[in-house]
Amino acid sequence: MLAFSAETRRADLERMADRQLDLLVIGGGIIGSGVALDAASRGLSVGLVERDDFAAGTSGRSSRLIHGGVRYLEHYQFDVVHESLRERAILLRLAPHLIEPIPIYTPTRTRVQRHFFRLGLVAYDVLAFGRNIGRDRYAGASEIARAVPGLGRPRPGVLYHECRTDDARLTLEVARTARAYGALVANHAEVTGLLSSEGRVQGARVLDGIGGESLDVRARLTVNAAGVWAEAIQGLATDAPKLLRPSKGVHLVFRPGAVETRTGVLVPSVGHDGRFLFVIPWGGRVYAGTTDTAYDGDLEGPTVTPQDFDYIFDAMQASFPSLTRDDVVASWAGLRPLLAGGPPPHGGGPSPTVEESAHHVRARTADLSRKHALYETPPGLLTITGGKLTAFRSMAEDAVDSACRDLGIRQRSRTRLIALGFHGDLAVALEQAQAEAVRLRLPPQAGRRMVRRFGDDWTEALERIREDGSLGQPAVDGLPVLRVELDLARVREMALTDQDVLVQRTRMTTMNRMVEESAAR
Ligand SMILES: Cc1cc2nc3c(=O)[nH]c(=O)nc-3n(C[C@H](O)[C@H](O)[C@H](O)COP(=O)(O)OP(=O)(O)OC[C@H]3O[C@@H](n4cnc5c(N)ncnc54)[C@H](O)[C@@H]3O)c2cc1C
Repeated sequence: MLAFSAETRRADLERMADRQLDLLVIGGGIIGSGVALDAASRGLSVGLVERDDFAAGTSGRSSRLIHGGVRYLEHYQFDVVHESLRERAILLRLAPHLIEPIPIYTPTRTRVQRHFFRLGLVAYDVLAFGRNIGRDRYAGASEIARAVPGLGRPRPGVLYHECRTDDARLTLEVARTARAYGALVANHAEVTGLLSSEGRVQGARVLDGIGGESLDVRARLTVNAAGVWAEAIQGLATDAPKLLRPSKGVHLVFRPGAVETRTGVLVPSVGHDGRFLFVIPWGGRVYAGTTDTAYDGDLEGPTVTPQDFDYIFDAMQASFPSLTRDDVVASWAGLRPLLAGGPPPHGGGPSPTVEESAHHVRARTADLSRKHALYETPPGLLTITGGKLTAFRSMAEDAVDSACRDLGIRQRSRTRLIALGFHGDLAVALEQAQAEAVRLRLPPQAGRRMVRRFGDDWTEALERIREDGSLGQPAVDGLPVLRVELDLARVREMALTDQDVLVQRTRMTTMNRMVEESAAR
């Protein structure tokens, strides 16, 4: 088992301070972690610093879908859809334990709508170039009623497929794999300033949030992957170009049994805005989202407002009439780093290379681009932002290609072939782990859970339970999390605080808000 802990963190911070790196990556979300992995696996010396915890920003607050983005077809963003479908197929191969196909039913109101959706799915199939993950088709009302018994009025519709994931654990696995390839990695390490010489950024000043010291990390190139905080990082060096227009998205979690469905469902909002909400079964519960509203508040603490709550709850109740407000047991809110306009307004160094950006700033953030931007302003600071969780691997490849050009390094990306924490046959591992769990007098699903969470390290997790039976007990009554997960969070996953364990590692706070409240006391 690869150690990834407080000890490796301390050692990595010391090593970052005593040499010049090829690349220093700021931000331990999915994009920064992906950049660190891509660069380290090409042989570059790399440091990755995250001021809070891995995936504490947007990457732990998404809709948890690795998806082709069927609704971008509506905006004719065929390139985004094509890229997403390609990346979905690649990630399913690299992390099959973390990324799981899920059928999604979309009941429709009219025959015209049904044919319209079906047409979209045909386009989806074509853009997947044979890499679609299930057969998209019409579905009758009785089939939908069987799959989603809680729907008030089953209607005919369509069936298509996406993948669900655990966004924070995916991010963590990418960061761990980056370290396996030699990257130096530290969470709770905040960039407080940029080091500059002769007009070029040469690294950053990093504050160790645990030890309290500051250290200077020198790097030939610094990558700004700070998500919605990217402009703040750039602001440390120059007048930051206004490229981002954050948008808030909220999800509600319903208690076990409240929303009766065996599959994913798309339900319409009741706001006459033409939007749909994903309803996804997850960890014995169901979550639903999302909203998509322009956000200019404090980036640190987006909250679920009563309006956000109503938007999602009303849509859910319209489709699942037996729901009550008391059925909502948790929620989360995240900020999308959406691109608002064209290229950054000033150069200063090498001309900025903006890969793509939205053409117009429009009123609705739902219309803004899910494409990404990559530009080097000022020299030595390469900013990558925008995009989606699903596209992280190709975004990272773009960024490291650009970094290599800058540094005169000729190495191609290898991440299409790098497994993210699991090797072998998933079905076999699930079966073996299930049998082993039964031998340990645990429910069979506990074994499957260890594979889904720890990949190759499921054997180590069950070995620990064999040595100490109490580790096979639930961490909190009524939740599927086992005590062994709390231990492994510290030694395998660099969890340093209780929040790291509860929020990003075990996701307990998104299963039941009482966990968060009791942790805060
Ligand atoms: C509601 C919602 C639903 C979404 N659903 C999906 C989905 O289902 N599928 C999909 O593909 N995409 C989805 N997305 C988009 C996706 O989540 C984001 O595009 C992606 O997570 C952004 O990752 P990131 O690494 O750029 O940003 P982040 O995850 O925010 O990472 C940036 C990191 O930088 C760190 N940082 C900031 N300042 C500093 C500093 N000074 N020093 C060090 N570190 C710093 C932050 O703490 C943060 O961890 C969704 C987004 C939202 C908001």
